[in-house]
Amino acid sequence: MDRRSLSHRLSVLADAAKYDASCASSGTAKRNSANGKGIGSTEGMGICHAYAPDGRCISLLKILLTNLCIFDCHYCINRKSSNVERARFTPQEVADLTLSFYRRNYIEGLFLSSGIVKSSNHTMEQLVETARILREEHDFRGYIHLKAIPEADPELLDAAGRLADRVSINVELPTQAGLTRLAPDKSAPQIEQAMGGLKDAIVEAKDAKKRFRSAPQFAPAGQSTQMIVGADGASDVAIIGRASGLYQAHRLRRVYYSAFSPIPDASAVLPLKRPPLIREHRLYQSDWLIRFYGYGAREVQDAAEADGMLPLDIDPKLAWALRFRERFPVDVNRAPREALLRVPGLGVKAVDALIAARRHRTVRLADLARLTVSVAKIRPFIVAADWRPTALTDRVDLKALITPSAQEQLELFAA
Ligand code: SF4
Repeated sequence: MDRRSLSHRLSVLADAAKYDASCASSGTAKRNSANGKGIGSTEGMGICHAYAPDGRCISLLKILLTNLCIFDCHYCINRKSSNVERARFTPQEVADLTLSFYRRNYIEGLFLSSGIVKSSNHTMEQLVETARILREEHDFRGYIHLKAIPEADPELLDAAGRLADRVSINVELPTQAGLTRLAPDKSAPQIEQAMGGLKDAIVEAKDAKKRFRSAPQFAPAGQSTQMIVGADGASDVAIIGRASGLYQAHRLRRVYYSAFSPIPDASAVLPLKRPPLIREHRLYQSDWLIRFYGYGAREVQDAAEADGMLPLDIDPKLAWALRFRERFPVDVNRAPREALLRVPGLGVKAVDALIAARRHRTVRLADLARLTVSVAKIRPFIVAADWRPTALTDRVDLKALITPSAQEQLELFAA
């Protein structure tokens, strides 16, 4: 029994959970007010935000059950050979903490992960028991996201899916070679098998629900996964290919990316520097292109440079447009939605507003200016009632002409 105070263990185990990106936002600059200047922080841990299936943003208590671990994944601060301070909660303690934060209106749910303590089955039993106490003893109806341990028995993963809203299994690294080298206790086939089992159970439960209203739910918010970027030598092309394969094979709701960050007492097999944070952001943008903009994985991969990496200075949508200029200009008064979604600077909302507007009038450049952050950036790629780019689309210096500052680039997808 760990006799240190609950709040001390909470600080250790909330801090240890911050490395899991499964509900993190990406691309945020690190800021805090620890020196007494300003107010607020982007570096806090303990409470994170996720989105419910209906789009609501919900705040979650994000903690580990324990940061003890019998595995030795090189990239992980909680690995067996790390000398971090260790702590452990019981399932009852996590349930009590969740309820007490919930009653104080701090959170609307729980995100619970864990290091592997004693065995995979023992750890999974503890995670499931936490959710069981909340659901069955307290009739807790808030959101629960459980990390599942792929090496645990399928019956335990099944129990997790019956209690949690979302279940996730981390694939950790994009390639089998990377996993073998950096996470020697983990097995890619076992991870895939466990994800496949969850997918089948989710599909079955959805089918049953269509037939019988009383059919039990199974992870109604689906399953997700996380990949660490930059710890092995995998290129962006390899990462996009792996993510796309996972979406197709296991119908994942999300693939999260976590830029590898050097940890204290790091193993010698790891890189000394973290990859630029913008790389993680570019991968999230490529993920959006596939999920919401109708791009195939192969097309997004085609936006990469010869070394297999997405350009860091421009977003992948612009990189693709610059590479495939024969697909432009697109006539904003006639083009189908899928072609409009390929125009750099036109986001989903802007495209839908444009399509609604053109039902009533002919769209001119000034109309587009009201829908986008900068009409100058989209002009080379479109034809409007009063605008044709003529030779602009094919200019060799087009990238230099329209490449915005890094900050504006982040906003291209917000249009
Ligand atoms: S299994 Fe690997 S990644 Fe997970 S806590 Fe243990 S060492 Fe870290």
